[in-house]
Amino acid sequence: MATNEYEGVLKKIEELTTNAGQIQDEVLGEILSRNAGTEYLRGFLHGQTEKQLFKKNVPIVTYEDLKPYIDRIANGETSDILLAEPITASGTSGGQPKMTPVTAQVTKNCELFRRLYESPVIKHFGDINQAGKRMELMFARPEIETPSGLKAASVSTSIYNESNFRTILPKLYTSPIETIFCPDPNQGLYCQLLFGLIQRDEVVTVGSLFASTVLRGVKFLENHWQELCYDIKTGRLSNWITDLGCRNAASLVMKPNPEQADLIENICNCKSWEGIIRKLWPKARYIGCVCTGVMRQYIAELEFYCRGLPLVSAFYACSEAICGINLEPLCKPCDVSYTFLPNMAYFEFIPVENEHDESIEMKRNDEDTELVDLVNVKAGQCYELVVTTCAGLYRYKVGDVLMVSGFYNNAPQFQFVERKNVILSVDQEKTSETDLSKAVTEAKALLDLLGFILTEYTSYVDTSSAPRHYVLFWEIKGKEGNHCKELDPKIMVECCSKMEESLHYTYKIYRKRNIIAALEIRVVKQGSFEALMDYFVSKGTSLSQYKKPSCIKSEEALKILDSRVIGKYFSPKLPL
Ligand code: AMP
Repeated sequence: MATNEYEGVLKKIEELTTNAGQIQDEVLGEILSRNAGTEYLRGFLHGQTEKQLFKKNVPIVTYEDLKPYIDRIANGETSDILLAEPITASGTSGGQPKMTPVTAQVTKNCELFRRLYESPVIKHFGDINQAGKRMELMFARPEIETPSGLKAASVSTSIYNESNFRTILPKLYTSPIETIFCPDPNQGLYCQLLFGLIQRDEVVTVGSLFASTVLRGVKFLENHWQELCYDIKTGRLSNWITDLGCRNAASLVMKPNPEQADLIENICNCKSWEGIIRKLWPKARYIGCVCTGVMRQYIAELEFYCRGLPLVSAFYACSEAICGINLEPLCKPCDVSYTFLPNMAYFEFIPVENEHDESIEMKRNDEDTELVDLVNVKAGQCYELVVTTCAGLYRYKVGDVLMVSGFYNNAPQFQFVERKNVILSVDQEKTSETDLSKAVTEAKALLDLLGFILTEYTSYVDTSSAPRHYVLFWEIKGKEGNHCKELDPKIMVECCSKMEESLHYTYKIYRKRNIIAALEIRVVKQGSFEALMDYFVSKGTSLSQYKKPSCIKSEEALKILDSRVIGKYFSPKLPL
């Protein structure tokens, strides 16, 4: 983006946020006037397009409610069951692909969105596009063809497929397109790291869509740096990279470079990998990846590897809708707020009550709750996000809970709180992702003091014991290469206790009444969570969009972790 272009985009952000209310009404008006004649909306609006009628008659839905319509389109019925604009493709998300329609308008919005979220970043870090290249780890998934011949791909894959992206890729990124589309993610990752290292003097940012993928890259590098250095030294790609696209791309740029290989070898050969990203890519100005929500848990480890480089979470978006951008890219990951863009979708909000106000609350029905418009949300209040989009989603619950942290002009700014679903429950207590994350944060502080980092965790309810109990899987690593075997069991038992004490009121009451048994931490060996990621990727999840589950639901995934357990610890006493 040229300087005057990004300044123009910053002005556009001012305009959008100042006129947020009016733009929201226009967006809804346009969606309704285009789509009021579709089978879906006709059933509720009888051809009318008034906002009040929309709010009164159109139900709040989840993916399951819309799935029959989407399946009919995928199976060959015309898309005007759901939307008037023709569908150009279909987006997918998650291991079990959730398909959503993609239209020309969606693609246009994505392009505009990229410029909108990059402008504040350029304002703070200078014009990275002119300064050098991005070492961004990107992974496309193979497209699926629906019975009606529509192409369905993950949103990230669709972005990598755009002709505009393919044009700018060689100039702005270190990864050739063949490495992004390599069917084997490990070969793709190896080559992307190789290309990033070969061009290390040009790299001005390092990143990926989500923090977990950046860490995956660092861990992969820990296991492969000698081999990568050998390839750089000899100018020849390792034999196990059999993908022809990757091999061709490499043959175009690789030549023996022993000096560069020696430099990299010296950096990687040191005992501690603290600040390794900074050392390997000395001109990098920041690490770009989403570090909020479930990615929060990776911040400490990423900070260790990038020592002092800012972590920038530039945007908040999902496969179903584009939502907001971070106007303060320099702010600490834990304080990041996303300013909603009123032109991207029509946004509504369901107020969410605090679950653990010293009593077990009856949950209210969505039908009884009045939805709040974007400009009418209240600072400090939590809401569940509902979107209406130009691509056939009407009053669709995304499943995310957000808290209003303030306003920029008239557009609200939100902090990401959690995915909506309760992740652990033995009886009537409900433990959310945030509850768990808070308790883990308290407990892992005990490890930090002893030079260990909790690198990954997940959870499940063990139903084989009576009473049932919460199980946490922890992968732990020593800061200076010290080994988990040196972990004092007493500390782990204390961590169990600390977790229980830090969980919510209802949990503690049930625990004291022996409705829930003692919390257990199972320490798993290094690489277990990588094996888990490999499993989900093999089942169809895009590595670019992978988010480790906060709670394990599948038997197979459980087996992967359980087979790697090296220590089991239980809380020794009831929580206070
Ligand atoms: P997907 O549709 O697979 O790309 O996943 C979208 C989901 O990722 C969202 O609904 C959020 O739960 C999560 N997500 C996306 N962006 C962010 C962000 N900036 N902060 C926290 N969570 C995010």
